[in-house]
Amino acid sequence: MKPSDQTPIHYHLTPINPAAHLFAVTCTVAQPAAAGQQFRLPAWIPGSYMVREFARNIVTLKAQCAHQPIAVQKLDKHTWQAAPCDGPLTLTYEVYAWDLSVRTAHLDDTHVFFNGSSVFLSVLGQETRPHRVTLHAPPRHPDWRVATALRPATGHNAAKQYGFGDYLADHYDELIDHPVEMGHFTLAQFKAHGVPHDVVITGAHQCDMARLCADLQRICEAQIAFFEPRSKKAPMERYVFLIMAVGDGYGGLEHRASTALLCSRNDLPYPGMQGVPEGYRTFLGLCSHEYFHTWNVKRIKPAAFVPYDLTQENYTRLLWIFEGFTSYYDDLFLLRTGLISPREYLNLIAKTINGVLRGSGRHKQSVADSSFDAWIKYYRQDENAPNAIVSYYTKGSLIALALDLLLRIESRGRYALDHVMQALWQQHGKTGLGLQENAFAPLVKKLTGISIASFIKNHVEGTQDLPLEKLLTQAGVQWHDKKPHQPSLNVKVSQENGTIKLTQVLDGGAAQAAGLSAGDVLVALDGIKATPDALAHCLKRKRIGDTLKVHAYRRDELRKFTVTLDHDHAPEITLEMPHLPSPQPKQPKPAS
Ligand code: ZN
Repeated sequence: MKPSDQTPIHYHLTPINPAAHLFAVTCTVAQPAAAGQQFRLPAWIPGSYMVREFARNIVTLKAQCAHQPIAVQKLDKHTWQAAPCDGPLTLTYEVYAWDLSVRTAHLDDTHVFFNGSSVFLSVLGQETRPHRVTLHAPPRHPDWRVATALRPATGHNAAKQYGFGDYLADHYDELIDHPVEMGHFTLAQFKAHGVPHDVVITGAHQCDMARLCADLQRICEAQIAFFEPRSKKAPMERYVFLIMAVGDGYGGLEHRASTALLCSRNDLPYPGMQGVPEGYRTFLGLCSHEYFHTWNVKRIKPAAFVPYDLTQENYTRLLWIFEGFTSYYDDLFLLRTGLISPREYLNLIAKTINGVLRGSGRHKQSVADSSFDAWIKYYRQDENAPNAIVSYYTKGSLIALALDLLLRIESRGRYALDHVMQALWQQHGKTGLGLQENAFAPLVKKLTGISIASFIKNHVEGTQDLPLEKLLTQAGVQWHDKKPHQPSLNVKVSQENGTIKLTQVLDGGAAQAAGLSAGDVLVALDGIKATPDALAHCLKRKRIGDTLKVHAYRRDELRKFTVTLDHDHAPEITLEMPHLPSPQPKQPKPAS
């Protein structure tokens, strides 16, 4: 019988050798292309804008047709072509997986994590067919469970909930957008406006799951209601938080119905924990950020991402909207749900303002250019980054704040950025129509009647600082600029075994003027052994204009420098609102 057009592409995935960190994968194609079927692995993963060439982790690869080996030829760094055959054609390959990040794959005898973009070769020309995956337990761990937002298949060999077996995706794009975790993870569940949410934690931890679920539930419900105030309908049928708890780590990647997160186990809430300590607040901010992406970038997308071209860089000048606005709303939802106080929120805004104002790169690169060049600059930062680039995350979040204030002020409270996000959702998210590169300002104008064209020209396409002092003051927030009078080297340092290494030397600062460079290791300050303590004491006792004799190693050569101390170029803006209630976040409700 001839296979039907809808015969799925069928993969089997087995963590075959945890000690060697290898997956064995097969991919069976019922109707291979007549001229020889081509297969390809993505060069990048959506959400992380850097070409990573995942194909470099494919160790071996061969093809069979009707149980007979056939030739496979490599066409370029990530594309293979099998010799013509009638089918079914089965590709068999091994993938090395030993990168503990949310972007790739990681496999040992404690757990398995993978993104489909690291392990599933696409079948060129057949990406829109249904895709079926049989997940197998590793040889010695039949008792492990599976967590993923992939949909369990029906019928023969269907995966049971949290089990091994068959899962389905409607097409390749969906297949690689559902990361998978296998292992002995901790699992808790809650519902947000009726949608089941799983919280899965892998790694050693003592997380208070009830507390975490209660807090996440507040954030998720608030965001669902934000985009659909009337129906409160979420865009997904279920959602999975896949959390890897480690000693020291931080990262998150958004997907259409899940997120993969890496965090420090100490940032998770523990039983009996009071309030929201800083580490936990950062973690909740990360969860809020990735969850907001469920709408903003996973469904409301730049036109340049519709569809993604996974073979090469996809250029857009709009990441300041998709990452910047998401960064604005992540903490704002902690405030709106009462998880942090207004005072704490103002402190977070002030921290972001100080961070953006610290780097002179903001005068050289616009956030639109930063978005476009994310592939080679933001994602590949070196020691010169603060002098050369601006972050479309942090400046992008301040653009969102400025626009929010501008719209509220100019419309006398009738419009806010919320209305713009809701319009983006209705016009671009629900429809799947990508946002064209120049469509944002016209959308705002049509919705609110307010022109933001000159704002975009100056602050998004241009490098002008945002008028935040004026806007915040108009909104009743007091802006204090505590001009620091303490002398400074204007460097960033790392401390290793009691020594001081310069990691960044800021443009126009005292260290740069004296000839010191990133990578230099300070040996002595005015003839005294250079330690982090000695540097702090030394700067405390000196004044601006005083000199400091510095001995430093550049590579293995001892060099002498005379630094004339300058004031600290880093701003110290603080924000206050008079008559704010004392910070007393609401107590979380118990998980349901
Ligand atoms: Zn993001």
